[in-house]
Amino acid sequence: MVILREFKKDSRLGITGLGAHMFTFSCFMVFLKLQVLSGIALLSFRAAKAPRDKEHPYGHGKFESLGALGISSMLLVTAGGIAWHAVDVLQGLIASTPDMINGTLQHGHHNNDHGGHHHGIDLEHPVLALSMTIAAISVKEGLYWITKSAGEREGSGLMKANAWHHRSDAVSSVVALIGVGGTILGVPYLDPLAGLVVSGMILKAGIETGYGSVLELVDAAVPPSVLEPIKQTIIQVEGVKGCHRLRGRKAGTSLYLDVHIEVDPFLSVSAAHDIGESVRRQIHKSHSQVTEVFIHIDPSYSECSANKLDLRKSMESEERENSKNISRQQDAEAIVSDILSSHFSGKMSLERTILHSLQGKVLLQVQVSMSPELLIQDAMDIAKEAEKAIIKANSSIHHVSIQLRLGPLISQL
Ligand SMILES: [Zn+2]
Ligand SMILES: [Zn+2]
Repeated sequence: MVILREFKKDSRLGITGLGAHMFTFSCFMVFLKLQVLSGIALLSFRAAKAPRDKEHPYGHGKFESLGALGISSMLLVTAGGIAWHAVDVLQGLIASTPDMINGTLQHGHHNNDHGGHHHGIDLEHPVLALSMTIAAISVKEGLYWITKSAGEREGSGLMKANAWHHRSDAVSSVVALIGVGGTILGVPYLDPLAGLVVSGMILKAGIETGYGSVLELVDAAVPPSVLEPIKQTIIQVEGVKGCHRLRGRKAGTSLYLDVHIEVDPFLSVSAAHDIGESVRRQIHKSHSQVTEVFIHIDPSYSECSANKLDLRKSMESEERENSKNISRQQDAEAIVSDILSSHFSGKMSLERTILHSLQGKVLLQVQVSMSPELLIQDAMDIAKEAEKAIIKANSSIHHVSIQLRLGPLISQL
């Protein structure tokens, strides 16, 4: 009651009478904004969680980034509003300090009306009002920490921005308390100064979360600290000889990846695909934030050449050749079948030609069958002759290996 009486006496002095009225209004505006913010957060969060559909084949994660941008910009508006008001009160204080008593006489009636509702805190029951305010601050600050840690765990910019929405609630109440305390202690400057500090805090948070959501919206690079553990997971998968061009982009809590993995160049397509699938499974298992991963399979050249420059050069030349000659498998089949049928018709029959293209060099694996009456030594001599003939037929063929099929043919699907 002593505090209350002192405050009443103080407010009659008319230090922050008009300011109090404006602050009540601006508190209401802040409250209104925060309700809108909750709506934005909820709507964009729900929109982002919807599964992908025909209209949005990459999912709806960007709605979350968009919502975070919306909340961030409204945090900036809130910060601006608080700062504007604080500066306004400060100017009023500076102007009214010399003739405080005159001001009291002019605004006496006004002050009595609004002094009791200064900063939205009920001063008729100061202990109750104070404990209620402190409880509200604690709850809001608690919500801030819970939402913030959840946002950091899930990598959600929306949650981090929303956490700051809770905190801006809490700090606004702290400012109100400081304002009341300042008035009671006769230090009216505390109110606007606290307002400026809080405005700075909200401004910083708004800029940070807003910047983060803009980065998400423009598909900015995911930091190496996120990609490095994923890369470790990939290269530990059995059959993976290396990986490159790992990149990611974020859409809210979703992380989309694409990566080139290097596998043994002599693997079959299905075996290489299986390795790709186990890479995908392992990534999803170890990194739950990854929504989708696109895996491109490259033949590994690590055993052929250690020099990366050579590798790049040969890959470029390979690309050029590929574009020049798209049906090399068919070409190789034609060349091999032509030679075997014209020069080795009675000795072997062609069953399958497998083309390998390594660093621009063509290697052929030719599967044949021969008469069971032949001696293995004779078969080897015939094969050597045939290999020479095939290499001579086309300059791009670097190596031919003729293989005798002994078991049944793998049925072609
Ligand atoms: Zn590649
Ligand atoms: Zn697949």
